[in-house]
Amino acid sequence: MGSVLILGGGITGIQAAFNLSQIGIETFLVEREEELGGNLNNLGSTFPDGKWAPDIFENKVNEITSSQKTTILTGSELSSLTGESPNFKASLKTSKGTQEVESESIIVATGFKPFDPAAMKHYGFGKYEDVITALDLARMIKDGKLIRISNGKEPTSVTFIQCIGSRDLHTHTYCSYFCCMYAVHLATVIKERHPQCMLNILYMDIRTPFCAELNYEEARRRSVKFYRSKPARVRANEGNKHLTIQFEDTLDGELRFLNTELVVLSIGASPPDGTDSLSSSLKIDCEESGFFKCEKAPVFTKVKGVFLAGSASGPKDISSCLAEGSAAAAQAAILLKG
Ligand SMILES: Cc1cc2nc3c(=O)[nH]c(=O)nc-3n(C[C@H](O)[C@H](O)[C@H](O)COP(=O)(O)OP(=O)(O)OC[C@H]3O[C@@H](n4cnc5c(N)ncnc54)[C@H](O)[C@@H]3O)c2cc1C
Ligand code: SF4
Repeated sequence: MGSVLILGGGITGIQAAFNLSQIGIETFLVEREEELGGNLNNLGSTFPDGKWAPDIFENKVNEITSSQKTTILTGSELSSLTGESPNFKASLKTSKGTQEVESESIIVATGFKPFDPAAMKHYGFGKYEDVITALDLARMIKDGKLIRISNGKEPTSVTFIQCIGSRDLHTHTYCSYFCCMYAVHLATVIKERHPQCMLNILYMDIRTPFCAELNYEEARRRSVKFYRSKPARVRANEGNKHLTIQFEDTLDGELRFLNTELVVLSIGASPPDGTDSLSSSLKIDCEESGFFKCEKAPVFTKVKGVFLAGSASGPKDISSCLAEGSAAAAQAAILLKG
């Protein structure tokens, strides 16, 4: 029986490899970093139900690592591809040199790159130590701490600014889908652990679909404050003692100032580096957003035998990634088994 090449070893690629190994299909799981897990490696408690991120993938990684059916190639990338389904011939650049792999189909699970807010000087990122990204905050929460970088002390107030690098003509025009949900979740986790800490979320719209609406309600019940607003800038005050956010309250048009000790930028998702060259090698298209184009939801591309899954076709939450990883595995299996 043939094999399946999976590009990207985040939760989506892991799920696809796990499902295929369970039904005895050989896979090559190719991850460019030195470890599997993708963006989940930075997360601890996750929405919607507080599941611990490592617990979501560790058992599956253990299982595929010990499986005879899965070859895990970390520190590796596709360098060229010839042939077509069911006779793809991939040349991989691995840490040990070049490896040739033949496969009947390919699952693209290359995910996303967190938006880099370096250019957002007006929010003081890179200038003030206490302006951090949600990824920095998620790592802190994972390590069981909450501190201001400037003095190592616990902040008395934390304020999220939403839509960083999303829904903006200067960065990305699309909504990154998961950042309202993770902000509401992280704010609630902080409130649980540090009840005295004041939590604010400055938002354009709050997008918490389906059950995530309950998390939004829970956050408000726990006194997380929501301001519908357009933040203009962040400035440091009183010898950097606290930060002041200047924003327009878009409900009444008033200009307001909010003092806070820690600013968290709710960054969205960008396509990962190398998406363009991968799209040429695979002969599949990209959307205007830069993510891969799905021709028929949820996993079909225009090329027979090349399937898309998870955030490779645009930002998604973990449960959607698990579902699409399984859907792509099922389509690859159907193609293989006929
Ligand atoms: C701050 C933050 C908090 C979040 N919190 C939550 C939460 O609480 N709950 C939730 O449901 N979701 C959350 N998310 C979203 C979650 O991170 C994604 O759903 C998930 O990581 C997507 O998994 P993926 O496998 O599709 O992509 P990724 O996690 O991006 O994995 C893709 C993998 O592919 C690799 N790769 C990329 N290009 C190549 C290539 N050319 N060749 C080989 N490998 C490649 C990458 O190195 C990476 O390991 C959060 C996101 C952020 C930014
Ligand atoms: S999910 Fe929320 S924070 Fe993220 S881009 Fe969409 S509206 Fe903005």
